[in-house]
Amino acid sequence: MKKYIMAMDQGTTSCRTILFDQSGNICSMAQKEFPQYYPKPGWVEHDPMEIWASQFSVSTEAMSKIRVSAEDIAAIGITNQRETSIIWEKETGNPIHPAIVWQCRRTADMVEELRKSGFDKIIWERTGLVPDAYFSGTKIKWILDRAEGARERAKKGELLFGTVDTWLIWNLTKGNVHVTDYTNASRTMLYDIHKMQWDEEILEKLEIPRQMLPQVEPSSKIYGHTEAFGCPIPIGGAAGDQQAALFGQCCVQPGDVKNTYGTGCFLLMHTGNQPVASRQGLLTTICADAKGKPAYALEGSVFVAGAAIQWLRDELGVIANASDSEVCCKEVEDTNGAYLVPAFTGMGAPYWNQDARGILVGLTRGVNKNHLVRAAVESLAYQVCDLIRTMEQESRIRLRELKVDGGASANDFLMQFQADLLETQVVRPKCIETTALGAAYLAGLAVGYWKDMEEIRKNWAVQAAFRPKMEAHRRESLIDGWNRAVKTALHWAAEK
Ligand code: ADP
Repeated sequence: MKKYIMAMDQGTTSCRTILFDQSGNICSMAQKEFPQYYPKPGWVEHDPMEIWASQFSVSTEAMSKIRVSAEDIAAIGITNQRETSIIWEKETGNPIHPAIVWQCRRTADMVEELRKSGFDKIIWERTGLVPDAYFSGTKIKWILDRAEGARERAKKGELLFGTVDTWLIWNLTKGNVHVTDYTNASRTMLYDIHKMQWDEEILEKLEIPRQMLPQVEPSSKIYGHTEAFGCPIPIGGAAGDQQAALFGQCCVQPGDVKNTYGTGCFLLMHTGNQPVASRQGLLTTICADAKGKPAYALEGSVFVAGAAIQWLRDELGVIANASDSEVCCKEVEDTNGAYLVPAFTGMGAPYWNQDARGILVGLTRGVNKNHLVRAAVESLAYQVCDLIRTMEQESRIRLRELKVDGGASANDFLMQFQADLLETQVVRPKCIETTALGAAYLAGLAVGYWKDMEEIRKNWAVQAAFRPKMEAHRRESLIDGWNRAVKTALHWAAEK
């Protein structure tokens, strides 16, 4: 039996490769940042060649660190920054344009046009997405509209499109395999998540030739083999980062939920084999399934989460590093009545207000630095609570337990407060590299390295569990205060 599964974790700012063993332990890891390009305000690009080169180099580095050769690797799994779009020449493999990154706002006007023409409703019904510049569709159109002769060449089959998973697999197989998985396809804004096929009408509207799109495959399947590291290794799985994390947390049943506390938060709830349409602006998306059956999730995000802690550190200078925030929180009993609504970039679900801005309310002379820091940390939990309540309403599934990961999930105070607000247990697993682990599981299942989900579930171990212990009246009064604070932020925007 081969010893390891290799997970390539291609993120927005860095490439990482982790070698996992059968118990899901991290045996080796290498990571490298790659350049970000900001050609204009609001624009973000990557060089596809730099993505491929750094992913390849961290993979060989992870192998050489523990003297592993290609013979020892049972399969490769890939997880990636979602939506980022690349178009390249089939013949040469050369990109015809820099990768347009998910964060890039350059196609915002195009999306506005779609909205004005009422086409947003069709997109929402078919793809489960609220149209936004974030997704791949308008990014592809943007390149085809501007690169000379590109649309004609794409029609002739000379150009190929891919999200980053597709790009890596294509390079790993020296141009033999042009595929993506369901989860990545579901973020392009071109894929009908009900019929599980590219949507001809949306493609026509955006003038995207069908020929340039990859074949869409299950997230756990042998797509091909790579000889990039010596002897052939099967490429056995791929999934977008958030869906990989959901899988890595073993959230495979309806009602299973994970939240990632990073710069922002990404909350996903597995909703089973039926897509749940959201009326409150959550996204309906495909999630990874071990057997390749259709499986769906509701997704919501908090724009400013860990970023609020960075703000305390970098703009206000009240803490020296993010982990100090926990010490401050524990110095005081409460926030002394203060609330911070960190609506620095507007408010997302369920409020949806682009003009809302951050506010600090409830101040009295006694509010000190620790109270302020605590208000900021608590704001993460309130925002996640709002999202979860919305998901529960729409899916009609009551949260049983929240699984957590991401940088800020290390904050025990925050996790306890989250459990208290939700009245539900919050659990933090031993392995918080859930994104890479999810990709490894998908690949390992495809080649029989792991037999089934049951075997994988045995690897999932709790590092810490936080049980709710706050009294009901206190919880209700805190949430009431938060709701009033949010209302004030919205009111401030409305008065503009
Ligand atoms: P990303 O993947 O978005 O870069 P990470 O998962 O690495 O984010 O998490 C980093 C974020 O978490 C930062 O915004 C940081 O402020 C926050 N953070 C890290 N540790 C803590 C902590 N102990 N308490 C609160 N926030 C934290």
